[in-house]
Amino acid sequence: MVIRQYAVIGLGRFGTSIARRLHEAGQEVLGIDVNEERVEAAELYVTHAVVADTTEEKAISSIGIRNFDCVIVAIGNDMQASILTVMLLKDLGVKKIIAKALDKRHGQVLDKIGTDLIIYPERDMGERVANQLLSPNMLNY
Ligand code: ATP
Repeated sequence: MVIRQYAVIGLGRFGTSIARRLHEAGQEVLGIDVNEERVEAAELYVTHAVVADTTEEKAISSIGIRNFDCVIVAIGNDMQASILTVMLLKDLGVKKIIAKALDKRHGQVLDKIGTDLIIYPERDMGERVANQLLSPNMLNY
């Protein structure tokens, strides 16, 4: 298995489940959050965890973020922080950026600034559930 280096910014429910699953699968995961308690809690399920405000250039560049194979921006509610973070990651030359969008407008901005993959958690999950319901064996239990 190829081991890649991932950074997950924002350790809410969404970021946590991504970080935890990647780590369980043997990948290297750095968890980052501005909230110290969330970083402490993450130490159990990531390779490393750091407290940082990723809207601050100094903080984000000192982490050496450009060496990661993929960075996941799991900040949702604070749209400004999410957009600023992605802009800084782009400026620093991060290869692959995945970001969570709160709504269509947020997603459009993330797309304009060069986010590689935009996730709409509720919409995407709703589609997944519908697809599962439509699969032929789903209701034959
Ligand atoms: P979820 O819906 O995934 O549970 P949430 O409801 O906790 O998330 P969000 O606003 O999406 O809320 O924030 C996700 C995480 O991002 C939080 O833990 C928050 O502390 C973190 N976060 C917000 N702004 C920044 C920032 N500038 N730098 C680093 N982390 C941040």
